[in-house]
Amino acid sequence: MLIRNIGEFNLINRISANLGSPSRYVIAGIGDDSAVLHSSGNRLQLVTTDMLVEGVHFRASTASPFQIGWKSLAANISDIAAMGGEPTYAFVSIGLPKDTDVEFVDDIYSGMKEIAEQYSVDIVGGDTVSSPEIIINISLLGEVEPENCILRSGAEVGDAVFVTGDLGGSSAGLEILERKLPLDKKEKHLMPIPRVHEGRLLAKSGCVTAMIDISDGLASEIHHICKQSGTGAEIFMKYIPLSDNVPIVAEYTGKDPYHFALYGGEDYELLFTCKPEKVPYIREIFTINTDLTMIGNIVENDRSVCIRDLSDRLIMLNSGGYDHFSTEKRGKNGKDD
Ligand code: ADP
Ligand code: MG
Repeated sequence: MLIRNIGEFNLINRISANLGSPSRYVIAGIGDDSAVLHSSGNRLQLVTTDMLVEGVHFRASTASPFQIGWKSLAANISDIAAMGGEPTYAFVSIGLPKDTDVEFVDDIYSGMKEIAEQYSVDIVGGDTVSSPEIIINISLLGEVEPENCILRSGAEVGDAVFVTGDLGGSSAGLEILERKLPLDKKEKHLMPIPRVHEGRLLAKSGCVTAMIDISDGLASEIHHICKQSGTGAEIFMKYIPLSDNVPIVAEYTGKDPYHFALYGGEDYELLFTCKPEKVPYIREIFTINTDLTMIGNIVENDRSVCIRDLSDRLIMLNSGGYDHFSTEKRGKNGKDD
């Protein structure tokens, strides 16, 4: 059997099943945005890791090394934000072709250093190897108080579904870069802003039952929450907040604007569920510069994950977010993996 026939998520499930249960007690292992482990202090230890490969996640021709460095750490910080946590220490491993300019590496690290400083992350180790392509793997630690740790699995029937910010801006930005469209507004793709402050505020509110960051597209992430919570969901297309570059890029490319939000990925906004009686409270406390939008509800498992389209038809929502091994889809940079 080839991995392209089962896809990324089935492969991860298979790896997880083959590994079996961990020997020590873990609060959350494979399957959430970060692993949640006990620590000797009074906060839980969070650990996450992500790998970026040139030609799949970025191209040196369309992203500067500073932006590549920024984005590689941003993706990891976002996974800590999705747990309601704060990032702490990072390990950065890089694989580089021998003829890479030293200054290129300097610039990758200045991008990482910039975002690391903004989010109080210290880079404390890593590994350096020779490789045919540029590969960056970051492992990031974080911390969260036990009462503020939000898993993907806590959604309950009747909960409201919210997103922070707006969606589709990253994949629309990628289209601008790839097709060399005469438009600006590429920054959401090149230098995403992880939602740590928002994640902390949401987690501390006591209103949030499940949370995930949107790295693979809204459609994929709502399926993860529902699968792990044993629920279904109904999403309203008309409420999905589209980024400001989406309508114009949709026009240029002939694509449905909602396609960017549902299947685009790399927006690094937070998708979360909120107890229904707490909806007014969550709106009230959320006074910082990020919009919150209610986009649907959690429903019974047997109602599956559906979307009400703009004509008010209820249709099954295909999970089809970004899958690294799917044959039908193309790589994050438009290139076949
Ligand atoms: P995210 O998009 O939030 O970074 P992923 O889809 O990459 O999450 O991973 C989902 C879960 O599977 C995470 O808990 C991750 O740690 C785990 N995982 C992914 N790949 C592997 C692997 N090769 N071996 C073990 N666990 C993995
Ligand atoms: Mg994630």
